[in-house]
Amino acid sequence: MQDYQNGTQCLHAGYVPENGEPRNIPIVQSTTFRYATSEAMGALFDLEAAGYFYTRLQNPTSDRVAAKICALEGGTAAMLTSSGQAANFFAIFNICSAGDHVVASATIYGGTFNLFSVTMKRMGIEFTFVDPNCSEEELNAAFRPNTKAVFGETIANPALIVLDLEKFAKAAHSHGVPLIVDNTFATPIGCKPFEWGADIVTHSTTKYMDGHANCVGGAIVDSGNFDWTKYPDKYPGLCTPDESYHGVTYTERFGLGGAFITKATVQLMRDFGATPAPMSSYLLNVGLETLHLRMPQHCANALTVAKYLKNHPKIAWVNCPSLEGDKYYELAQKYMPNGTCGVVTFGVQGGRKAAETFMAGLKLASIATHVADAKTCVLHPASSTHRQMSDAELMAAGVSPDLIRLSVGIEDVKDILADLEQALEQV
Ligand code: PLP
Repeated sequence: MQDYQNGTQCLHAGYVPENGEPRNIPIVQSTTFRYATSEAMGALFDLEAAGYFYTRLQNPTSDRVAAKICALEGGTAAMLTSSGQAANFFAIFNICSAGDHVVASATIYGGTFNLFSVTMKRMGIEFTFVDPNCSEEELNAAFRPNTKAVFGETIANPALIVLDLEKFAKAAHSHGVPLIVDNTFATPIGCKPFEWGADIVTHSTTKYMDGHANCVGGAIVDSGNFDWTKYPDKYPGLCTPDESYHGVTYTERFGLGGAFITKATVQLMRDFGATPAPMSSYLLNVGLETLHLRMPQHCANALTVAKYLKNHPKIAWVNCPSLEGDKYYELAQKYMPNGTCGVVTFGVQGGRKAAETFMAGLKLASIATHVADAKTCVLHPASSTHRQMSDAELMAAGVSPDLIRLSVGIEDVKDILADLEQALEQV
């Protein structure tokens, strides 16, 4: 399936029905699976045979959708999780334990920042947050002997900073650690981070992949490129026997292509249970079937909106990496030449008060704690998703207090512009 183009993969990858089988991915709404003998089930528990035994670990519906995302990203193995938060947590925790350290871009989604800087810190994992625009020397200086991974977002939410993937991959690899990239905003339609050196990709599928605000979900994809076995002391969880799983050594049994996802499934999913419902995976797949059509429309509408805002006298500033003159235009052209995403950020002249008046005046765009779905929505991150951050952390994350995040949908762009115009008239 990897030879097909994006559009064909969106529709067909992950599930090819046999003669007489359902045309759509079947919803296997069952917690358990029947076996004729204890030996047959024992072989599954020992990871000697492939198959399903309990949906907390794996479910056929979710696996087929994961396989589709895997094909789109060009990976070797993938898994779905119940949220993007769970995906990022698993991606890091799969290779880090208490006493370890991670280098992360400072301009990441507020929820991920909190997960790393508060909750995972309580688990004993330390994060150093770096300015994504830092020099190679500054980036290299953030590494410690106990650094186990580097993390960033392809397009940061909501700062819209494009990560210099090659710079981050080079630094990660020169220190013998993988680069983990959250590719939620770009989606594999816009950017395939593995082609630029990333090793693991994560997603909040809640966003464009689902695309219709139906289900919260996440995904982790492995490129299979990072050679854990070169650093067995650094990654003992992957390179030495797992006593909690019958002594299996993941890299030996599943190779570089399968070790990371198998470990995350049988260990982390087993213990944390952040598994998606089969129905949610089914709905995610319905969204994925049109991802290749929706993304270009999101990008085109967002660029039209950005150009309109840029020329509006009541707008103080606009960020849209696809807009010529944007600070990240060159990086966006390099990594996402066909378009970035549908999100645009801007400030209204008059600061926070003017922003509130503007947002209250919108009729078509809803104020919603959401981003990246088919319908246009708007948010003031400093008072919502990022409200746990101090002013200094907000600035480091690229979120100024007046920043409005407009998630441009796929409505007719004339109607989106008319809505913005009438709301700006009220300011
Ligand atoms: N990563 C990014 C880039 C996000 O924007 C979000 C949520 O907005 C998440 C991760 C967390 O995903 P979820 O809300 O599905 O847990």
